[in-house]
Amino acid sequence: MRLNYSIGQCAEVFEAEIRGSLPEIITHVYFDSRKIQQVKGALFFALKGHLRSGNEFMEQAYQQGIRMFVLAKNATVTFHPDAVYFLVEDTLAALQKLAAYHRKRFTYPVVAITGSVGKTTFKEWIFHCISDKFKVVRSPKSFNSQIGVALSLLEMHENASIAFIEAGISKPEEMKILRDMISPDYGIFTAFGKAHRENFANIEEHLLEKWVLFRECRLVFVPHTFADLENRLPGNFQVCPSYEDHRFPAGYSGMLGVLKTFLAYLQLNPSEIKKRIDSLPTLALRMEVFEGINQNTIINDTYNLDLDALGEALIYQRQLAPGKKRIVVIGLSEKHVHERFEIERLIQSFDPDEFHFIPEGKSIPWENFHDSIVLVKAHRDCAFEYEVARGKALKHRTVIEINLSAVKRNIAFYQSRLPKGVNILAMVKASSYGSGADKVAPALQQSGIRNFGVAFADEGVELRKAGIGIASSIVVMNPDPEHSDLIIEYRLEPAIYSFEQLDEFITALIHKQISNYPVHLKFDTGMHRLGFSPKDKERLLAIIHSQPEVKIQGIYSHLADADNPVHSEFTVKQLEMFESIVSYFRSNYSGTFLAHVLNSEGSLRYPEHCYDMIRLGISMYGYTENKELRPFFEPGVSWYSSISQIKPVPKGDFIGYGCAYEAAEDMMIAIVPVGYADGFRRNLSNGQGAVCIHGIKCPVVGRVCMDMIMVDISSVNAKINDLVEIIGQNQTMEAFAKAMGTIPYEVMTSLSKRMHRVYVEE
Ligand SMILES: *Cc1c(COP(=O)(O)O)cnc(C)c1O
Repeated sequence: MRLNYSIGQCAEVFEAEIRGSLPEIITHVYFDSRKIQQVKGALFFALKGHLRSGNEFMEQAYQQGIRMFVLAKNATVTFHPDAVYFLVEDTLAALQKLAAYHRKRFTYPVVAITGSVGKTTFKEWIFHCISDKFKVVRSPKSFNSQIGVALSLLEMHENASIAFIEAGISKPEEMKILRDMISPDYGIFTAFGKAHRENFANIEEHLLEKWVLFRECRLVFVPHTFADLENRLPGNFQVCPSYEDHRFPAGYSGMLGVLKTFLAYLQLNPSEIKKRIDSLPTLALRMEVFEGINQNTIINDTYNLDLDALGEALIYQRQLAPGKKRIVVIGLSEKHVHERFEIERLIQSFDPDEFHFIPEGKSIPWENFHDSIVLVKAHRDCAFEYEVARGKALKHRTVIEINLSAVKRNIAFYQSRLPKGVNILAMVKASSYGSGADKVAPALQQSGIRNFGVAFADEGVELRKAGIGIASSIVVMNPDPEHSDLIIEYRLEPAIYSFEQLDEFITALIHKQISNYPVHLKFDTGMHRLGFSPKDKERLLAIIHSQPEVKIQGIYSHLADADNPVHSEFTVKQLEMFESIVSYFRSNYSGTFLAHVLNSEGSLRYPEHCYDMIRLGISMYGYTENKELRPFFEPGVSWYSSISQIKPVPKGDFIGYGCAYEAAEDMMIAIVPVGYADGFRRNLSNGQGAVCIHGIKCPVVGRVCMDMIMVDISSVNAKINDLVEIIGQNQTMEAFAKAMGTIPYEVMTSLSKRMHRVYVEE
């Protein structure tokens, strides 16, 4: 959204009473406090939800930093003096008025799409066909409800040349509201659901309800099935001849016909039209089809579960399935249980062989599915993609598997040992040590972690975008001065390590008129990396006391050799120095702050120095140098591939680049699609490294290539596609790192991005 409205303008649009004032411009809107990402310029609508009133969420939004609100006049809320409130009769109506007002600012054509099925598909089709010729605005996902349409319209901007807006209704009177908002210039009617098709005359009334949307359109495009109604519908419409495409089931010919006619209306020539329709994805939605374990075929659409999309997915499943068993799996989150009945009815009308509702947090019983076409649908909030990944066949692919349950158990182990009141800050820098911060951090949140650490500002932004809301603090350890704006915009907390940097950050805050911004002070207690010297503490405190822009949120230092008893004397010195810094600030600083100094190893060895928080990185994945405690940790990361090809190599032949390996005997080798570009380093060539197949160690023969290795399988009875373990039960992370001449940290962070990450939870 790129709105640009003043508070006064909005008040007029809403016909609202105003309380408070702020020199702010409204750039975007929210109505769900869990989705808040950017607070500057945000206007929060306290909509009435099904269960709770929006006012409860309003307070949460305020806590997250939102300062502009639209709420019902009669609402009982606490008004904060530093916020602005628009008081209206009806908050949803206010959102819709804003949408209507915004839409009226643009003169390019707006096309409304309705119909009981196929709206989203049609919208994606048309986008596919014309987005290279026109600048298109379209409804996001299947946003077609009373709220969805308003949000879609708010996406309109001056650089577009046409807009497509989906409209769906559940009650007849709603269509008029949608029409007033959309004011469509053109209309498209996709289709009626199959239940209606046979009995067309009786649905005239139903049709007239939907027709309200099109009343003032210049032209409406309708499928051939409307031919009988030629003289019975008001307005100007065009019946489009059907169009068959063998790639689509027959039921789609009406919609394809509308598409073809509409493209001609946009002046595409017949050969262009044909080319574009021929290139339509047969599955315009977000469904993904792949091979599963046990010879299953999996249709995956864990993006949303609206009935329209579910109907299409079921049609598609039936089309794929002739002669095969059909299984439907629905992931149902707590929040959506009330939809179960309707979903069930729709599925039953397709008569699948089996269907399963899987409640949130439960697993799909993949082991019971064989030779079937399995359709998996779920709401996005089910995080079902991990479940789906478990059903995927591991074939010609190299994957990193992250066991989120193991990570959670490792954290629980720490939590059980930590003194009461000590928190964990999860270090998720370098995309959570290569394991994918966007997936791992939300899982850590489920373990109760509310403090995260990253190296750079953009990593922090990635976390916010992955749903780590501002109730969690994110510390940026190496903030660049150029990133101050980004840091402030996303409510990240910079670690300050020099006077220049402190000065620059305070300047940025002054420009934005922000005070009391949380920062962390980093001290160098002997490692000689970034950090203030302990001698700086007096001067530092004087500056901070005189600058209301910042407050100390944390004070920390880092140990140089926490895991090594040989240097324990040095470590104790570091800890003493840290203690003197902390006690200085505790007695002289006017506010409170969190002190922390221990990393994974440090907190196992020096638990009495936990202070308020420990910073965990590597041990969340189960890796530690601490031999007594190692049995309590579970490895969280595995690395698998599979055999692409098997071949015999006769005695005396060479293998790989540089003829670096000569077969001493007749042997059998396997080619595995992993190489140094994936982080399987070249120094593992020729027996330095190995993989495990069926639990047997198979050394690398020849040199490691960029994308492949050859391994000796003479002593294994292996087949193509068999699983190859690079890191797992038989070859541990530590052993692999040792063979590569490095440490688990470097192995993990060198795993290339191109490899698929699979997340499992038991
Ligand atoms: C990376 C990092 C940690 C975590 O270290 P582990 O050894 O992985 O636990 C802690 N503190 C700081 C400052 C770090 O940069």
